[in-house]
Amino acid sequence: MSFPASRPRRLRRTPTLRQMVRENHVLPSDLIAPLFVCEGEGIEVPISSLPGQFRFSVDRTVEAAKRLWEVGVPSVILFGIVSDKDEMGSGSYNAGGPVPRAIEAIKEALPSMVVIADTCACEYTSHGHCGILRGLSVDNDATLELLARAAVCYARAGADIIAPSDMMDGRVAAIRRALDNEGFVETPIMSYAAKFAGAFYGPFREAADSAPAFGDRRSYQMDIANRREALREMQLDIEEGADFLLIKPALFCLDLVRDARERFDAPLCVYNVSSEYAMIKAAGQMGWIDEERLIDETLISFKRAGADLIITYHALEWAQRFAQNV
Ligand SMILES: [Zn+2]
Repeated sequence: MSFPASRPRRLRRTPTLRQMVRENHVLPSDLIAPLFVCEGEGIEVPISSLPGQFRFSVDRTVEAAKRLWEVGVPSVILFGIVSDKDEMGSGSYNAGGPVPRAIEAIKEALPSMVVIADTCACEYTSHGHCGILRGLSVDNDATLELLARAAVCYARAGADIIAPSDMMDGRVAAIRRALDNEGFVETPIMSYAAKFAGAFYGPFREAADSAPAFGDRRSYQMDIANRREALREMQLDIEEGADFLLIKPALFCLDLVRDARERFDAPLCVYNVSSEYAMIKAAGQMGWIDEERLIDETLISFKRAGADLIITYHALEWAQRFAQNV
């Protein structure tokens, strides 16, 4: 059927009609909020390149988690900031570190909240790379052991989900094995399956103090030009036992989100990364865009592409606004 019998504008005539035929919706329960946890107490340091985001000490992290929970955001993903770093990233499996302590504290205050532990070495290594170095490159297999230890440490603290973000080959299998050996057979893995190297993470590195001291991450994170390779990475992670797939960055990879949605049945998560957030915030502060609407349109585009879950720095403000409007 074509024009004039077919007139798609008929379904756009009124707000109610448009609402009725709306195909995708964002709910607070789709959102996961990233939180940066540091040492100390009573600390709440604004992150200049991520307006509205903070480095929180454990006690303040719990307060932040409560604010999220109150407006229906069911989950947080934690990143650690430590002053004591070493070559081997041993802080990543220190049970007394900020992340394990925050996991314990959040689970105690909010037992139903889903606490995700980002699992990587870069926040804990003196050189800022995502694993153990051999010469100037990251040793894949030596790093697997480190990741597995960190994963078990977070599971012991009570993490509901382990989320490896390092892009080493074989890490999902290594973490699965370690978790199972320690009795954590029910702890799922959310794998950063397709994670690209690039300029998308600049503000995050300020937040997490995790910039590499030399070189870049191109020998382990993917080339932004590659689509088939991303699907291969996701396939491998599914085979190794990943329970969720995560694609990062989100806005620059909506084609892959659609590809993944059509090919895999696992829950699919996107990471709406720091630069995506910072660009909206900066343009909003300049008065160049309608910030709230752009945030709404950003989040719905992830759902339309096929994502189930969205890690986003907008989580709190968006869910607060959502709560006011229902
Ligand atoms: Zn890393």
